[in-house]
Amino acid sequence: MGRAFVYVILGGGVAAGYAALEFAQRGTAPGELCIISEETVAPYERPALSKGFLLPEAPARLPSFHTCVGSNAQRLTPKWYKEQGIELVLGTRVKSADVKRKTLTTAAGETISYKTLIIATGARALKLEEFGVKGSDAENVCYLRNLADATRLVSIMQSFNGGNAVVIGGGYIGMECAAALVTNRIKVTMVFPEPHCMARLFTPKIADFYEAYYESRGVDFIKGTVLSSFENDSDGKVTAVILRDGTRVPTNMVVVGIGIRPNTSLFEGQLSIEKGGIKVNGRMQTSNASVYAVGDVASFPVKLFGSDIRRLEHVDSARKTARHAVSAIFAPEATSDFDYLPFFYSRVFTLSWQFYGENIGDAIHFGDFLAGRFGAYWINKGRIVGAFLEGGNREEYEAIANAVKLKMMAKDEAEVEKLGVEFASKVGLHQEIVNGLVLEKPLYAMHATAGIVVAISIAAFAYWYGRRRRRW
Ligand SMILES: Cc1cc2nc3c(=O)[nH]c(=O)nc-3n(C[C@H](O)[C@H](O)[C@H](O)COP(=O)(O)OP(=O)(O)OC[C@H]3O[C@@H](n4cnc5c(N)ncnc54)[C@H](O)[C@@H]3O)c2cc1C
Repeated sequence: MGRAFVYVILGGGVAAGYAALEFAQRGTAPGELCIISEETVAPYERPALSKGFLLPEAPARLPSFHTCVGSNAQRLTPKWYKEQGIELVLGTRVKSADVKRKTLTTAAGETISYKTLIIATGARALKLEEFGVKGSDAENVCYLRNLADATRLVSIMQSFNGGNAVVIGGGYIGMECAAALVTNRIKVTMVFPEPHCMARLFTPKIADFYEAYYESRGVDFIKGTVLSSFENDSDGKVTAVILRDGTRVPTNMVVVGIGIRPNTSLFEGQLSIEKGGIKVNGRMQTSNASVYAVGDVASFPVKLFGSDIRRLEHVDSARKTARHAVSAIFAPEATSDFDYLPFFYSRVFTLSWQFYGENIGDAIHFGDFLAGRFGAYWINKGRIVGAFLEGGNREEYEAIANAVKLKMMAKDEAEVEKLGVEFASKVGLHQEIVNGLVLEKPLYAMHATAGIVVAISIAAFAYWYGRRRRRW
C-alpha cells in the first residue's frame, strides 16, 4: 500500500526547495508533487547553518532562512507548500529505490510511486571513523551538515563559557566554524594535514592572508598533521585531542569538517555513476529517462570546461541544476543543455570572497593584501579560467565572473597583475562572444563598422537610385 505522485523529489534540501518553486511557477496541479525528506523541516538555505545560525546575538532561525531567500526569491514556508498542494513527507528516510518499477520504499515500509523522480539527496559529512579514528560519537564532538547538527553544535557551544575548541579540517566548513566559535568567545585550534587552509582552492599567498587574519582573532593553526585519538573523561566527553605528531591539545569541544560523500547509495547499480555522483546529461537526466538528479549528488557536463563531467558541492549549483531539471521536465524542447559558470563563496568574520570557474594554470595575484582587497586570476593557455576576489562590490564580482565566462584572453600576465579587477572590467569591453566564439572587439568592431558602412552605402545608393528613377 502506498501513495502515488506524478513527480517526486527525493531529498528536502536546497535543490528540493528551488525545484519546488520552479514546479509551482510552471503550474503543477495540487497533489501532483511530493517531497520526501529525512529532515523534519521544509527545505532551507543550508549555508546559513555555518554563518547566521551560529551567531551569538540575533542568530538566524527558521522560518527566516527557508529556501528560496538565498537568491532573493520567495520564502517557501510549510504554509506555502500546503497552499500549492505540494505534499511534504518529512522525517522520512527512503531506504530503497527501484527505478524500473518507479517506486521508493521508506524506512517505515511505505511504497511511494512516481512517474518522474528528481534525486536531490545531497551529501553526508564524512566521519572520522572512515579514516580509522574512533570516538566521534562522544557528546561534545560535532559535525555540521543539517539543522539537527547545527542545533547540537550551538547547545554544546553554550554549555561552557569562554573555553577551547579544536576544529579538525581546514576546508570551508572548518574555516566558517572556527570563525563562528571565535565570535562566540571560544579559543580555537585548527588542525589539518595540508600546508595551508582551503588547500583545494587557495594559493599559499591567499591562504597566508586568511591565516594571519584568523591568528589576529586568536585562532591557532597546527598544520601538516592529523588527529590520531581522543582523550575522554569518565562521562565519555572528549577532554583533549592527540595528534599524529604527538601534540596534545586540551579542549571543551571538537568540530569535524573533513569533507562530504554524495548520497548515491540508493541508486548504485541502477543508474550511471561518475566522479562520485549520479551522472546526468545537460538536462539533468540520468541514465534512466524518468529520473533526474540535481545538486551535490549530480555529476553533470560543464560546457565551460569542454563539457567535462563535474560534481560540484556548492549552493548556487544546487539552486540552478534544480530549476533546470524542472524546466527540462516541463519543456524538453525549449530547454537547452545546462550552461553553468561554477561559483562558490564564503563569508567569515567581516570578510567575504567569491570564486568563479576553476583554479588550473598560473595564478596571478592582484590588489592590496594588506588592506584586504585582493584577488587572483587563474590563466590557462592564455585565457582566464578562474577568478577569486576578496572584499569586492557587486560590479567587481560581476566583472570577474564575466571574465571567466568569456574565457578572456590574457596574454600579458604583468598587465593582468597590474590592472587587477580593472582588467576584467576593461578588457571585457574589448571582447565579446559572437556565435559561441570569443572575439577581440577591435576585430569584431571593425567588422561591425564595416557592416554599418556597407549598410549606409547601400541605403544611400538606394535613395539616390530611387530619386533618379523618379526623375526618369
Ligand atoms: C554548513 C554548510 C555551509 C555551507 N556553506 C556554503 C557556502 O557558503 N557557499 C556554497 O556555495 N555552498 C555552501 N554549502 C554547500 C551547500 O549547502 C550545498 O551545496 C547544498 O546544500 C546542496 O544542496 P542539495 O539539495 O543537493 O543537498 P542538501 O541541501 O544536502 O539536501 C539533501 C537532502 O536530502 C535528504 N536525504 C538524503 N538522503 C535521503 C534519504 N535516503 N531519504 C530521505 N531524505 C534524504 C537530506 O536529509 C537533505 O534534506 C554549505 C553546506 C553546509 C553543510
